[in-house]
Amino acid sequence: MKKRKLQVAIVLPIYNESGVVGQTHARLRAVVDSLPHDFMIYYVDDGSSDDTVKELFALADADARIHVLQLSRNFGHQAALTAGMDAAQGDVVISMDGDGQHPPEMIPQMLDLILQGYDVVQTQRMDESQPASFKKWTSTLFYRFINMVSGTRILPGTADFRALTRSAVDALKSMPEYHRFLRGMVSWIGFSTVILPYQPADRISGVSKYSLGKMIRLAMDAIFSFSLVPLYIGLSFGALLFCLAAAEMIYVLSFWVTGRTSNLAPGWSSLMFVILIVSGMLMALLGFIGIYVGYIFQEVKRRPVYLVKGRHPDDGK
Ligand code: UDP
Ligand code: MG
Repeated sequence: MKKRKLQVAIVLPIYNESGVVGQTHARLRAVVDSLPHDFMIYYVDDGSSDDTVKELFALADADARIHVLQLSRNFGHQAALTAGMDAAQGDVVISMDGDGQHPPEMIPQMLDLILQGYDVVQTQRMDESQPASFKKWTSTLFYRFINMVSGTRILPGTADFRALTRSAVDALKSMPEYHRFLRGMVSWIGFSTVILPYQPADRISGVSKYSLGKMIRLAMDAIFSFSLVPLYIGLSFGALLFCLAAAEMIYVLSFWVTGRTSNLAPGWSSLMFVILIVSGMLMALLGFIGIYVGYIFQEVKRRPVYLVKGRHPDDGK
């Protein structure tokens, strides 16, 4: 294997992780200092409201390899990651969480795989050993569903912990979409990919910054920006109901043909049933269309995915 000195950028989105970033950085630094490559570390502050920014600035003042990008508000994990990847220079960009759940000790192995010629080194969470939890089963359910409805294969448990070569990063940068589900986007761009399993650690401290609302939004972004299947669900239900209606018509006609119309009940309940189902399906279909129209609306506005308030050190990088 050829040993080449790489320029490596590490991107960590950080939101309200005061007290955690110091430990994350110490652990990351120990790994980085043991490697022969040139490193730059980009901490993206996603509009934290605690002391995180101060702590990040202090880290950056002590180490010239650290850059802090401060977003103007909380734009969300995927937007913060995008901001970091846009800013990152270098041959390889590694993204990881700032809460200690992504072991930096895997970075040497990830870089070895990059040196072997892979463009995407994607880690996959192996959490069989973890106890069953709400997060775990919603995640399993989510991946099963997204793979059923989307043409882009997304491996279960893939995290935003991966190494990308410059060409893969540039490919991602050419996708300006507003609703970003990076796991899907990385799978969509192709390139030679290798999967690296890892055992997630526990959060150093604090609680998950992915509230239920944020998780639902991410799942929606994944489903509606990677699949048109929800539209077809409404459509095929509509077709099915149309067939049922036709069958019913034939059934009623048979009473007429055989002259047994007196046997026909007034049919109020069946009529209501059909009306209710059909209008329900229509509403559901309209709802799906509404969501896509909403997404189209947001995409055509071409709003930036994030806004940068400041950089530290402010050297134009
Ligand atoms: N994060 C962020 N913006 C957000 C939510 C999370 O930058 O709106 C960061 C967070 O600080 C952490 C990473 O994204 O470094 C992953 O978030 P978290 O650990 O809360 O997610 P989980 O591991 O529970 O999926
Ligand atoms: Mg986490």
